[in-house]
Amino acid sequence: MITVHARATDAAGAPFHPASIERRALGPRDVLIDIAFAGICHSDIHTARGEWGAVRYPLVPGHEIAGTVAAIGTEVESFAVGDRIGVGCFVDSCRRCVNCLAGEEQYCRNGATFTYNSIGRDGQPTSGGYCDRFVVDERYALHLPEALPLEATAPLLCAGITMYSPLRRWGAGAGRKVAIVGMGGLGHMGVKIAHAMGAEVTVLSHSLTKRQDGRRLGASHYAATSDPSTFEELAHSQDLIVSTLSAHVELEPYLGLLALDGAYVNVGLPEVPVLVDTTSLGRSRVAVSGSMIGGIRETQEMLDFCGAHGIGAEVEVIGAGDIDKAYDRVVASDVRYRFVIDASTFA
Ligand code: NAP
Ligand code: ZN
Ligand code: ZN
Repeated sequence: MITVHARATDAAGAPFHPASIERRALGPRDVLIDIAFAGICHSDIHTARGEWGAVRYPLVPGHEIAGTVAAIGTEVESFAVGDRIGVGCFVDSCRRCVNCLAGEEQYCRNGATFTYNSIGRDGQPTSGGYCDRFVVDERYALHLPEALPLEATAPLLCAGITMYSPLRRWGAGAGRKVAIVGMGGLGHMGVKIAHAMGAEVTVLSHSLTKRQDGRRLGASHYAATSDPSTFEELAHSQDLIVSTLSAHVELEPYLGLLALDGAYVNVGLPEVPVLVDTTSLGRSRVAVSGSMIGGIRETQEMLDFCGAHGIGAEVEVIGAGDIDKAYDRVVASDVRYRFVIDASTFA
């Protein structure tokens, strides 16, 4: 077993504390990672605070992991010691079902093993990236672009792929108008990626306070959802809306922003369900969909795309002692635009 330094929480809302956790000894296809940075995703907060139901405490969250390879198992083929390496939201899947075979492991019919708060295929609970070392099967690890600093790369492993996947699937590109709802960790990545894909990007934020940043990241337009005239001025204008809101909103006004055959894709995961009026779907023949992260193949494609376009996250680097404060600031929408923990502070 490999002992690592981590930060854990023992109950919903309880503060994080230093903890030692055991990771498995390297199997033949396993890679040992020296973590450099771990991003804080709003999903970590929903989970740690018990907002999504049952949690296996003590919990070590973290699924935006960037670092370097420290050691490899005897049969590892695609990584060498010293390589840059990343891990995202899942660390295993059945590898046999139709979705795994299609490279959509996150939708594994037999249940993907998530990076934390999951039970691994060895029967052990999984622990995430708020720690200094990680062990993963090479088939669930990613190659990180050399061109980007590791702290700016970590958030791509969840926020980046969560936006890239629906933007690709629903055809964000030249000649298409794309609105990103909420400019937080996911949203700011969505603006950068959609702009790099060639789309005309609008940010819909609850205020105009981040307007200058939105423009700098690639948005052509920035509008406040707290202002009712926004919904009149932008009526039937958008081909695609990707919503990252972590809090519940009424869907109806947003559907009214879609052009004929437009699509509304929800990636934010508030605790309460939203209602859809089916007649309003027919009015502009719009689609309402959801999307969950992305498979390993598409995550690698996203990382290569971001490397080629120089797209990293805008980050605020913190120490391990500041996780609780950072959580409160994320919930208050007071983050520009992702907190990333410096893993050298876990020891
Ligand atoms: P975040 O950094 O907190 O961003 C969420 C944004 O939502 C905020 O910046 C804010 O944007 C807006 N918002 C928050 N509270 C609001 C309120 N009360 N009313 C209106 N707008 C509000 O969170 P994140 O890490 O980007 O994650 C966003 C959501 O996506 C979370 O629910 C998370 O669990 C989920 N998620 C889903 C996936 C997936 O695979 N589907 C992956 C990762 C995360 P403005 O200030 O610009 O309005
Ligand atoms: Zn996440
Ligand atoms: Zn499967």
